[in-house]
Amino acid sequence: MAKSKFEYVKQFEAEDKCLPNCWIVIRVDGKSFHRFADVHHFVKPNDDRGLNLMTRAAQCVMDEYKDVVLCYGQSDEYSFVFKKNTNVFNRRGSKIMSNVVSLFTSSYVFYWPRYFNTQSMQYPPAFDGRVVLYPGDKNLRDYLAWRQADCHINNLYNTCFWKLVQERGLTPAQSQEKLKGTLSSDKNELLFNDFSLNYNNLPEMYRKGTVIIHQKEKELDANSMSPLERSPRNSVSFSFQGDYIPRTRVQILHSDIISEKFWTEHPQILD
Ligand code: ATP
Ligand code: ATP
Ligand code: MG
Ligand code: MG
Ligand code: MG
Ligand code: MG
Repeated sequence: MAKSKFEYVKQFEAEDKCLPNCWIVIRVDGKSFHRFADVHHFVKPNDDRGLNLMTRAAQCVMDEYKDVVLCYGQSDEYSFVFKKNTNVFNRRGSKIMSNVVSLFTSSYVFYWPRYFNTQSMQYPPAFDGRVVLYPGDKNLRDYLAWRQADCHINNLYNTCFWKLVQERGLTPAQSQEKLKGTLSSDKNELLFNDFSLNYNNLPEMYRKGTVIIHQKEKELDANSMSPLERSPRNSVSFSFQGDYIPRTRVQILHSDIISEKFWTEHPQILD
């Protein structure tokens, strides 16, 4: 095809290819979700519908991009880890990031009614996106540990904050004042002594966030129910290439990804 005389403007586009052999992490985060949660009457501190909808949207991204080896989500954010040698979109950072954040956002809106039933969405939500490259496995694990530690710190604080507001009748300002300068141990004690709540008994989804990984089926049982039939009941979904093999299972976990155990149990993630 003949080039037009305008074609030269293409050269103004910046090259943004991700460095080879690095983990590519895309993190999306809801824009002003403090307000979005208020307007949509999210249960405080943790609305299961909101968290599960985030996870559904993340699964859509994982289904579309097979090179995503792990997703980690908490609150209004999700991180997607692309394998080190991925060649998706020729490793163009803005192309990967914009496609992920846009598919995530449209999926969040698409699946909203499934989680919020008749409650309608009041305005279109937006998510931001960023690309971060990690050159080593330790950097990647530390990144994920950082997000999970953030989940824990925020959840412990928010659990105390909302107990004081909802059950003690404090104003948000009073609650904030009471928690100022407290250590984790103080917060655990407050929950235990004043609200008979053992923090460690709260659901793992709140305390640890959500991890999604692919897992190869080790053994295929020909007589078992089809994986697609199983998926709605145990929230494990399957995707196929061809009729039968290979089968990749998507597992939703609320594991500790800071300690060694998770990584020894799932060595294939860092392969
Ligand atoms: P920004 O645009 O800078 O990200 P933000 O208001 O989204 O601003 P975040 O730090 O991302 O700020 O925090 C997200 C907020 O969304 C939380 O503080 C919480 O109030 C709310 N939120 C998100 N998901 C839930 C949920 N499932 N249940 C309850 N609240 C939630
Ligand atoms: P990529 O993901 O690389 O952008 P693409 O299939 O979107 O792939 P484009 O070069 O962006 O390729 O072209 C968009 C295509 O979408 C057009 O070729 C056309 O077939 C189709 N299309 C988009 N909008 C319309 C429309 N309003 N009416 C008819 N066809 C449309
Ligand atoms: Mg923020
Ligand atoms: Mg946000
Ligand atoms: Mg956030
Ligand atoms: Mg197009």
